[in-house]
Amino acid sequence: MIFEGIPIVDAHAHLGYFGGWADIGIALDELIALNKEFNVVHTVVFSVPNSISAEAAKKYPDKITGYVWLNPYDGEKAVNELRIAVKEWGCKGVKLHPLFQAFVADDPVVYPIMDEAKKLKLPVAIHSGHPPFSLPWSIGELAEVYPDVTIVMLHMGHGHGVYIRAAINTAKRHSNIVLETSGMPMHTKIKEAMEVVGEDRVMYGCDIPFHHPSVELQRVKMAGLNDHQLRKILHDNAVEKLRLSFK
Ligand SMILES: [Zn+2]
Repeated sequence: MIFEGIPIVDAHAHLGYFGGWADIGIALDELIALNKEFNVVHTVVFSVPNSISAEAAKKYPDKITGYVWLNPYDGEKAVNELRIAVKEWGCKGVKLHPLFQAFVADDPVVYPIMDEAKKLKLPVAIHSGHPPFSLPWSIGELAEVYPDVTIVMLHMGHGHGVYIRAAINTAKRHSNIVLETSGMPMHTKIKEAMEVVGEDRVMYGCDIPFHHPSVELQRVKMAGLNDHQLRKILHDNAVEKLRLSFK
């Protein structure tokens, strides 16, 4: 165990198989076993199709929170999908992937989903780090239009230093943005984010199966955080900002 005494919350994971260039996948029982190994007590899951997340959240309500993955181009159908997900399987947030579905993060096509998320008081997690669709600046524009919606900037800029810097600066300007650490290579930027953005607005995510917890947690370990900050980033911030409830 890398962090003695800190039960870990993973704010970003996927179940099922991702084909194409990724050719990677993980089943529910594998995720549960992996989490046990690394003392991950709760995981936020987004999957395609959404039924995978629904089944996982229903089977392990204390271990898994499901988000519904929506395509803004579906318009009213996407809004309906969100309503049904909340009602039928207790979905607790929305996942958007501007790169996969080719929309700019702040395009008005996203507004109907954001309006509903605002109404339902649900966080919206958005992939970041790939031009031209999912850059931190665009997510910042969206955050400005929806100051009441908690927006999780997944990957906090991802692999490019310029985008990582932009993620930190953008989150600093918009108090409704929370940064998530998965796939972001620089351990130093985790500490910088906590100092610049605030100790309450950075959270650990792994992005299973694309990344492995032994690698993702190691980066947090090397970031030079104190015990208080570690507890915040690994557990408290996700519980609070994502309004998670589990035993
Ligand atoms: Zn992901």
